[in-house]
Amino acid sequence: MSGALYNRYRPATFSQVVGQEHVTGALMQALRTGRLHHAYLFSGPRGCGKTSSARILAASLNCVNGPTPEPCGVCEQCVSIRGGVSMDVTEIDAASHGLVDDARDLRERAFFAPASARFKVFVVDEAHMVTAAAFNALLKVVEEPPSYLKFVFATTEPDKVIATIRSRTHHYAFRLVPPGVLRDHLTSVCAQEGVDVDPAVLPLVVRAGAGSV
Ligand SMILES: [Zn+2]
Repeated sequence: MSGALYNRYRPATFSQVVGQEHVTGALMQALRTGRLHHAYLFSGPRGCGKTSSARILAASLNCVNGPTPEPCGVCEQCVSIRGGVSMDVTEIDAASHGLVDDARDLRERAFFAPASARFKVFVVDEAHMVTAAAFNALLKVVEEPPSYLKFVFATTEPDKVIATIRSRTHHYAFRLVPPGVLRDHLTSVCAQEGVDVDPAVLPLVVRAGAGSV
């Protein structure tokens, strides 16, 4: 049930990402003006929208109407990226793999043009776990990527991300969501679900969430 709810309220556009306007506004402006970078670092606490935003960025770049700050959500690219099944958007967890073998694999895949999308997007979660050796395998492709390739490194611990990654990425810092914003969001989710909640309960849930959506 909570999994279903989580997916139903996973943001599909930047304007639906709660409490990160300093990041989403800047990304939308970059998409609007075409000032795009080829490698991003999304840092911030768990549950603040980093991975969702990486997928939204991928959809924004690849939407049939894109690059656009408002991906349509219904075209083939938007649907497959949102569902995590796009051939051209690859999410890798550096924590489980250490990334050395994956880095070589990624490097090889980087040279093939996208299967059906406009841009290939590599999303590397837990980027603070990427070792210097692994990143060295990727260095050249991060420094001089083919025009169709974008990287998003995501991490809860930006200070532990190796300097060679940090210096080559455009850094966006996600923040804990303030209690008032979380409370409003929760109220709106309850209303959409038709759930009647005693107002006294909301602050308890907000506190348990500790700034995470
Ligand atoms: Zn679309």
